[in-house]
Amino acid sequence: MKIFDEIESEVQSYARNFPRVFDKAQGEFVYDKDGNQYLDFLAGAGSLNYGHNNPKLKEKLLEYVARDGISHSLDLHTEAKREFLETFQEKILQPRELDYMVMFTGPTGTNSVEAALKAARNYTGRTNIVSFTNGFHGVSMGSLACTGNSHHRGAAGVTLSGSSRMPYDGYMGDDLNTIEYMDKMLSDSSSGIDKPAAAIVECIQGEGGINACSTAWLRALEKVCRKHDMLLIVDDIQAGNGRSGNFFSFEEAGIKPDIVTLSKSLSGYGLPFALVLIKPKYDQWKPGEHNGTFRGNNMAFVTAKAAIDTYWSDDAFEKEVQRKGLYIEKRLKSIVEQYGEGNFTTRGRGMFQGINCVNGELAGQITHAAYRQGVIIETSGAEDQVIKLLCPLIISEENLKKGIDILEGAVRLVCRRIDEFPEETDYFDDVVVENEEVSK
Ligand SMILES: *Cc1c(COP(=O)(O)O)cnc(C)c1O
Repeated sequence: MKIFDEIESEVQSYARNFPRVFDKAQGEFVYDKDGNQYLDFLAGAGSLNYGHNNPKLKEKLLEYVARDGISHSLDLHTEAKREFLETFQEKILQPRELDYMVMFTGPTGTNSVEAALKAARNYTGRTNIVSFTNGFHGVSMGSLACTGNSHHRGAAGVTLSGSSRMPYDGYMGDDLNTIEYMDKMLSDSSSGIDKPAAAIVECIQGEGGINACSTAWLRALEKVCRKHDMLLIVDDIQAGNGRSGNFFSFEEAGIKPDIVTLSKSLSGYGLPFALVLIKPKYDQWKPGEHNGTFRGNNMAFVTAKAAIDTYWSDDAFEKEVQRKGLYIEKRLKSIVEQYGEGNFTTRGRGMFQGINCVNGELAGQITHAAYRQGVIIETSGAEDQVIKLLCPLIISEENLKKGIDILEGAVRLVCRRIDEFPEETDYFDDVVVENEEVSK
């Protein structure tokens, strides 16, 4: 680990919780340099929905590289881009009756959010963007202004402006309808909220603690946006690409956002790739206004097309994800009932679910215990209090069960020990776990 301690910046984050050197990966498994096997329930924070090195995608990528297909092209037209656009239009947009222009941005999620915000602001001539409590949209300046997390906001170094926060669905408990509140704030010219250009929302908040809003709330949000003549932006960077049980997380609600951002699992292969979908009338860009050297990653076009062809040509994959989602829900409910002492709750939908342990330290101890038994799994939420299950969507039922069994064992281990030794803080120094060689 020497070189990482010596010269890699302190900004490292995930590496701190999983201090191993990883070398190979296939499907839902990752292997460290010593050959230890881990089940990956983090999956690149949702960037590997189709698993590591998916063979169908790999085959197309290897063919493309072997024939000297264009690897970099700025935003020039390429065969790879043409084929991606045709497939995306035919298999994703048209069957869902979605009419969008496709804008290629820089390859990170945050850059697509920046582009979405600019498009909405420039079209409306307004600055303010409504964002929601616990939302996460990236850490560059514009997207960071719409991100709730104080740890990330604190690093900005400047005033983060241009966004007004509204309470997300359920933020004030079950009794307060937060959309009515938003409507009231926007209707009152003395509420202190400047008339917004747009609202930006995640249908399932990932980094904010796996909060899924209801379909009714989402439909009401769309209505309020129409009423106040503002655009609706859905940030589908983490919840999209099948994670929710549909390709887009907003499909279930039947809404049609004005702008959608996609990234993370879009390439399907962990290759950096992001885009913005814009209703044609809002696509008022002048050439090169939002540019970037790496707009459109040709290798990602190839794997993204292969992912769509493989998994989105019919509804079989959606059904599979929905079925696995129901299994996850059942298992998590049972874990919460058995060990949660009335405090734990389940969160999310589809294959984007988690356990709210209320206490971040406890959640951290549980994920650490799971790691020591060979499952890589992370937490999210303001206090890192939510254990976040993000396994690849293609995981076999057997390994899904195995991973959740290990997680259940970790919850049992940590919660029981807390009962027995309430004053202890580190529960692991003397705990023998089943798969001890993994933690060496
Ligand atoms: C990850 C994420 C982003 C930022 O994407 P980066 O590629 O990390 O810049 C934005 N929005 C959501 C919802 C995300 O999950």
